[in-house]
Parts: sequence; structure tokens; C-alpha cells
Amino acid sequence: MSTKVVRNYVNGEWIESESKELLDITNPSTGEVIGRVPLSTRGEVDRAVEAAKQAFWDWRTTPPMARARYFFRLKEVLEDNFEDVVRVTSVDAGKTLDESRGELRRAIEMVEVACGIPSLMMGSSLEDVSNGIDCVSTRQPLGVFSAITPYNFPTMVPFWFWPFALACGNTFVVKPSEQDPLTQEQIFRFIDDEVGFPPGVLNMVNGGKEAVSAITENPDVKGVSFVGSSEVARIVYKKCGETGKRVQSLGGAKNFLVVMPDADLDTTVPAIIHAAYGCAGQRCLAASVVVAVGDIHEPLRDALVAAARNVRVGPGPEENIQMGPVISLAHKERVLSYIEKGIEEGADLILDGRQPDVKGDKGGFFVGPTIFDGLSPDMVIANEEIFGPVFGIMHAQNLDEAIDVVRKNPYGNATCIFTGKGKWAREFTYRAEASMMGINVGIAAPMAFFPFGGTKGSFFGDVKAHGSEVIDFFTDKKVIITRWI
Ligand code: NAD
Repeated sequence: MSTKVVRNYVNGEWIESESKELLDITNPSTGEVIGRVPLSTRGEVDRAVEAAKQAFWDWRTTPPMARARYFFRLKEVLEDNFEDVVRVTSVDAGKTLDESRGELRRAIEMVEVACGIPSLMMGSSLEDVSNGIDCVSTRQPLGVFSAITPYNFPTMVPFWFWPFALACGNTFVVKPSEQDPLTQEQIFRFIDDEVGFPPGVLNMVNGGKEAVSAITENPDVKGVSFVGSSEVARIVYKKCGETGKRVQSLGGAKNFLVVMPDADLDTTVPAIIHAAYGCAGQRCLAASVVVAVGDIHEPLRDALVAAARNVRVGPGPEENIQMGPVISLAHKERVLSYIEKGIEEGADLILDGRQPDVKGDKGGFFVGPTIFDGLSPDMVIANEEIFGPVFGIMHAQNLDEAIDVVRKNPYGNATCIFTGKGKWAREFTYRAEASMMGINVGIAAPMAFFPFGGTKGSFFGDVKAHGSEVIDFFTDKKVIITRWI
């Protein structure tokens, strides 16, 4: 693992940033510094955008079949280097090896779908829209797009966007999270060495707030895909509105998992444990609140505590670990402060993960599995995103009460119901307000060919990530009306 400064990738070249501001990159499993990341300047972002702008016309006029061939090659390259990327992600983000494998697999699925661009990008036509007049609607790329991505899926989230944008004929600037930029650096190395997009077609600039402002304010950037906290998602959405850009801005989450009295506990409990503690709770689809309906409350609570006690916590890169650390010391402190808040608010801390027993720990950012019982809808810990291995159990009398809680929550990313009754499941999916829904599934994660994104405070924009609809985001629908006779 390199300890040197991460470089930017612009116009087909690796470039050292001119920035004087650098941040340490830490291995969350040990607390050790493993590299430094520059906070690139506005000028550096502008140069990357200019390179992408210059590369646009040649790339845009490359036939879609020929563009698709780069993605067939990219898939092979990612498969060939699969375990190398996995190891970097595991050290960079503290994820377990299986979690790192899972997100790379998802990234590859995006590439696989982008290979179908000649069909995905097709328009439509109709003869005789009026006598002797024909009409064709065709999709055209727009120019330079950019993605600003979060730390919690350092491999996958950039792939939600740029393969589709490039396949459509646009060029791109990726701005990865400054907290774990080594994963994208590694992926870009493989792309540079073994795929070789024409210079300027795909660029990467590292940085933070200033780089984000530069992207959202550059007039040559036609559209921005953002994923991160709702606070920043709103800022990016607003700024792109002011500067007249297309924008899809995916924010934070508070996901409710409703367990009906007839739920099968043997399958429901492992599903909830996986949803709550996978990626140490740092998933926008993580289980945040379990709503136990009726008399399932006690047996469910006891089974969840018993299962949570058995979760093996340890360094991400070690084999047989079920839960790694959170990303940073600052984030660990934030998660602990929410546990304190829950106690202060009167919730019942039935499993305390504040001092987890992690074998051989020398300074990793670990928080153990934590569960509160007795949550009420007005509590801060029932409303704000904690983004750590902490969930609360709320007791509802019936399905209406449970749906009401989901509807009133300010976020609307994902929600799930566990039941054997189709009537309850139907009622729930019909009325609860969240865009990604699971029925007897704890993590409702849409695959590459379906749209990904929430509603309410979890999403700002209209076209969501990936799926066939994202082609609308990355293209303009041009209509050509023709008369020859
Ligand atoms: P974050 O909002 O702190 O950072 C996201 C990106 O925004 C980073 O690239 C960062 O450099 C930049 N940024 C941070 N502060 C900024 C500011 N003040 N101005 C401009 N840019 C800024 O998010 P994070 O902590 O990296 O990621 C976790 C969050 O992402 C959680 O809220 C999680 O729910 C959310 N998330 C959402 C989805 C989704 O699909 N909705 C997916 C993954 C993560």
C-alpha cells in the first residue's frame, strides 16, 4: 500500500496536485496513516474540465458500438484485477473483504449494463406525424459531466454514473471522497494501463469543498451527479440550479424495517442483522429503526440482541470478519455521541457497543453492535441519520401506526416489511413513502438496470442513478421533423 500523495488523472496523465492543502488518509482498521490526499484547487478542476471538453467531439463522434467495446474491455480488466481492488478498498475504507468484493461486483454490473449502449440509447420515430412529414427523436450526448461521491462505497458509487455517461458519448470528471481516495486511484491505474480511453475522456480530481464548488460553478460542466449527506446534496442541488446544470443529488437516509406479527423470525432476524451491521452501518440502505408490530416485539427484540452479540467485529482486511470499523475517529465520535443522545432521550440501551472487544486492536475506529429499545418517533435517534452500527426498536400497535411513522420521517430512501401476508405487504408498498422497498428483504438495493435513489429528504432531482432512465440524464432528446415531399 502506497503512503505517497494521491495524484489526479487528467487528459490521460497522472498529475501531482499543486495544492498546499493535504489530508491524511487513515486505515480505519488500525488508525495508521497510509497516504495523503490533496485538496485540489479550482484551477486544477477547471483544467480537468477543459481536457474533458476538448476530448468531447472525437469521443461523441465515435460510434456507440466502438464506445461499448471499451466497456467490454473494462469488464475484463476489473475481473482480472478483482482481488487487488478488493484489498485496497478493504484497507482504504475498513470494509470486510466480502463487502469489498460485493461492491466491486456491483460496479462491474454497471459496466456490463453500459455495454448495451447501442440499444439503451436508441430514440424513436414515427412516419406521417402529419401528411408527408416524419419525426425522429434521437438522443445526443451533451458534453462534460461530473460525479461527486461519498466515502462509504468508494468503488461502486462512481460507477453508478461515469460508465453510462461515457457510453452515451459524454466526457467526465470524477471527484472521489477525500476520506478513501486510494480505491479509485487503483481502479484508474488499471484503466489507464489496460483500457486506455482516449486522453481527456475520463478524468479524476481529488479534493473537498473547493473542488466541489469549482465543479458546480464551471459553465462547461453540463450536469452533476452527487451522492453524500443530505446537507451537501441540498447545497449541490441548489448550486447546479443556479448555474443551470442538470443535477441528480442523492442524500442521506433513515430506513425503517417493519416486522409484522406473522414474520418468520428465522429469516427476518439474520436479514435485519445484516442490514444493520453490514459496512458497520455505513450504508444509505442500512437498517436504522426496526418497527415491531404487535406481540412480535419481545421475541424479536431478544432474538436480535442474541444475534447481534455474535457479530464478529475486527479489521476489515482479515478473513472471517463480519463487521469492520467506521471510517474515521471523527465519525466514531459522532456515532458515540448519538448513543449518548439516545440514553439522554430515555431510550433503553439493550446492547452497548461503545467499548467493543476487538482482538489485537491497536487504534482502529471500532464501534460494536448497538441496539436501543423503546424508541419513540419524536426522538432525535429515531429521526437523524447515525450512519454507524446502531439501530433502535420501536413498538407499534398495528400496520397503520407503522406506516404513519415511515411517512412522517423526513427521509425517504428505503424501507422494508417482513410478513407472510400479501395484503399487508401491498398496503405497505402502496402507502409508505420511500423509493426502495423490500418485502422480506433487509436491503432493498436496486441492481444496475433499475433506478437507484430515494424521495423526500433523501433525493433532490428527478432522474435517479443508473438503470435505463439515467440515459435520459446523460443525453438530450433531439426531435427532427422532416418533409421531403
Ligand atoms: P458527505 O456529504 O460528507 O461527502 C460527500 C461528497 O461531498 C464528498 O465527495 C465530499 O468531498 C463532498 N463534500 C463534503 N462536504 C462538502 C461541503 N460542505 N461542500 C461541498 N462538498 C462537500 O458524505 P459522506 O460522509 O462522504 O457519505 C455518507 C453520506 O452519503 C451518508 O449521508 C449516506 O447516507 C450518503 N449516501 C447516500 C447514498 C444514496 O444513494 N442516497 C449512497 C451512499 C451514501
